[in-house]
Amino acid sequence: ILIVGVIIFSIMSILASLILSQITMKPVKKSWSRQVEFVENVSHELRTPLTIIQNSLELLLTSPEDKIIDRSESIAIALDETSWLSRLITDMLTLARSDSTMTEIHKDLFSLDALVETVCQPYMDLAESQNKVLEVNLHCPMNINADKSRIHQLLVILLDNALKYTDEKDRISVDTNIKDNKAVITVSDTGMGISDENIDKIFDRFFREDKARSRERGGMGLGLSIADWIVGRHGGTIKVTHNEPKGSIFTIKLSKG
Ligand code: ADP
Repeated sequence: ILIVGVIIFSIMSILASLILSQITMKPVKKSWSRQVEFVENVSHELRTPLTIIQNSLELLLTSPEDKIIDRSESIAIALDETSWLSRLITDMLTLARSDSTMTEIHKDLFSLDALVETVCQPYMDLAESQNKVLEVNLHCPMNINADKSRIHQLLVILLDNALKYTDEKDRISVDTNIKDNKAVITVSDTGMGISDENIDKIFDRFFREDKARSRERGGMGLGLSIADWIVGRHGGTIKVTHNEPKGSIFTIKLSKG
């Protein structure tokens, strides 16, 4: 198990440096300082889980004669961090590709309401298990021409956040409507909300209002940048406002396409 652990650790380190070199070698489309900032952020985000994995594995090496069961806590920590890294790498690749023309979108005609209903279904049970309420109101009886899997991903990001940044007894509402011939999706919650000071920054890469709280809740600060990119690629808009008396409202407008 120790050898396997060390191998996994080495592979992850190599993968991380490969991805970093890929990102830095990409043709610079945006400003150089933005690239440098991205790499600095990425390095910082990779360092934390790698250090935790390294510490857990070193701890295992201190008494190799122990049984796995006695060391299950260290192994579980290392595994948790590996899955965190894997999610981080997937999100970073999505964003790195979004800077180039590498990621194409594949449009199809589909019912927005049907998709929203399908995506929300498992979140109903999840919300209930956390003692929260999720309600869905579908009023967009038209088909839109969009990339279904990307719109699915967008909804997942917003629903994940709504659950992450709410507490017991809070309410989450997903609504669809048609306004000015556009499909409108709103995801609102009565959770902790976003401060005035930071409301304009939350679509920035790696931005988190409270890094510790966000990480504790499973956040890595990339979801909303991906959401913003998806909406932008569809020629739509996404904005966030305060909910009353507390919480946030995310509003997405998409043309029929
Ligand atoms: P994360 O993975 O950290 O959630 P996101 O890019 O999805 O990253 O969100 C960026 C930050 O915006 C979060 O860390 C959090 O501070 C804030 N945020 C996003 N959604 C909400 C929400 N529904 N309520 C309160 N804060 C939110």
